[in-house]
Amino acid sequence: MSNSNDPVMRQVLAEQNPSQDRSPSPMTFAEDMETRDKYVVWDGTNEEAYADDTTCHDCIIASDLEPISVQELRREMLKSNVVPTVVFACKMGQSAFEKPINGETRGVFSYYWNALLKHDPTVTFRDAIRQVNIFMQQEGLEQQAEVICRIDILDMPVEEVSLPNKAHVSMILDICRTNKETVMNETRAATLQAVCSLLRHPGNPWQKELQDFQARAEAGEDIIVEVIDLLSPNENVRRWMREQIAPSKAGFRGVSGYQQLPGGHSIITASHSWVCPQASCTKSLPVIQEGEDPPVCEVHQVPLIRRNS
Ligand SMILES: [Zn+2]
Repeated sequence: MSNSNDPVMRQVLAEQNPSQDRSPSPMTFAEDMETRDKYVVWDGTNEEAYADDTTCHDCIIASDLEPISVQELRREMLKSNVVPTVVFACKMGQSAFEKPINGETRGVFSYYWNALLKHDPTVTFRDAIRQVNIFMQQEGLEQQAEVICRIDILDMPVEEVSLPNKAHVSMILDICRTNKETVMNETRAATLQAVCSLLRHPGNPWQKELQDFQARAEAGEDIIVEVIDLLSPNENVRRWMREQIAPSKAGFRGVSGYQQLPGGHSIITASHSWVCPQASCTKSLPVIQEGEDPPVCEVHQVPLIRRNS
């Protein structure tokens, strides 16, 4: 799967790498990997060579509507002359811990990471990982962060990575790591659920297509891409779908350096959606067309109302 056809990916790469022509003769991806661009994994104690085909250093983030693999994102960046550094809050199969800090639930790793950078703006990736892991250990947390980066970047200040002729991007991922299959299964289930909800929307113009999707999904077919293709031209439906599929399911919390990545945490603003008047009910549907009749809550059998902010 290549993400270069993904409009989000193209946008990210274009923003991170505005002038690809700056380097007179950029190395090919293969040359780059074989020569000076050696990547390492550092967990605060051990430094190991990084094999790009590993499945042990992957996780899935929500990119718009589709979950994408961090490793796929890394490879796309490398091909586009962007040097990626990925910081994981924990090892594969471990949880990323959260706790309430100043009345807000936050990732323990990112809390310490940000505090450390504030205290010492010149700290290197090597030291930052080592120190944050010591903090987490002192809290009694069995969570060990690690960084995957080019070997020379390990000893550069986190906030001052500077590379001749190349752009650099840090992805700080304070999320539970999981394998792609788990996320895809959850996404398929959430997509089917969204299709079933839309079928109950009286204003939906895709009744026949959605019924077809429903039947095929129930028969085990993967319909995600087709559903997105059909529905995403309608902005309200697209936002609603994103809300149904992305939050928590893909473990998205924050990707530093990726503020432009519209994944997971977008909130539908007032009047773009219908919600149930029962306060405890979480059912919602998108406004497909202004002036349409309100859909009915499938749980409470009452007309939905326009959402207030
Ligand atoms: Zn309801």
